Amino acid sequence: MRNLIDHLMKYRYIKSESVKRAFEKVDRKLFVPEYLEDRAYSDHPLPIGFNQTISAPSMIAIMLEALDLKRGDKVLEIGTGSGYNAALISEIVGENVFSIERIPELAEFAKNNLKKSGYKVKILIGDGTLGYEGESPYDKIIVTAAAPKIPETLIKQLKIGGKLCIPVGERYFCDLIVAEKISDKKIKKKNYGGCAFVPLIGKEGW
Ligand code: SAM
Repeated sequence: MRNLIDHLMKYRYIKSESVKRAFEKVDRKLFVPEYLEDRAYSDHPLPIGFNQTISAPSMIAIMLEALDLKRGDKVLEIGTGSGYNAALISEIVGENVFSIERIPELAEFAKNNLKKSGYKVKILIGDGTLGYEGESPYDKIIVTAAAPKIPETLIKQLKIGGKLCIPVGERYFCDLIVAEKISDKKIKKKNYGGCAFVPLIGKEGW
């Protein structure tokens, strides 16, 4: 695990003390299928079943740094997958983390992994492109699957000054976008470059 974190720091994927500490605390081995445990500390996406993946640590680090997470932030994640990203977020912000997964078996996998590692994240099953209005507005929203465009509903559920991090485009050709909500009518977008993600399937997805 140390080698992985050193690699993420050397190439400046990890920039802040808070993201570094989260990677040190959350053991990725607890979030990958048993047969892949020996690859848990490689900087690669790994299969978690149902044609889905746990993202590469470098990709996660880029997203967490871009969101500028602060202790106390209320965060919504779309695409729980293994629960690893949600655990890292919870390590940084605390217990106000909500995560939506559309595949019930993966939601169960994530719940078990989070329990093993000691993180309290509220997992919901459903179409995350519709967000989770019940707990909105959020300081930060992170989408871990590629969307055809930024879902309007998610922008609505952000606080003014809040940030949404989302890959926009097709599976192997998407751009990582951070949209900051300046006002009810205005967002400011920043492009963090090309990436690859499984598709976001849903009403405001593919
Ligand atoms: N964040 C995850 C982790 O730490 O393991 C990795 C997520 S994986 C790259 C993308 C996930 O998004 C998959 O588990 C997939 O089922 C989920 N997904 C796709 N469309 C979704 C939707 N509309 N709502 C909720 N989850 C969705």
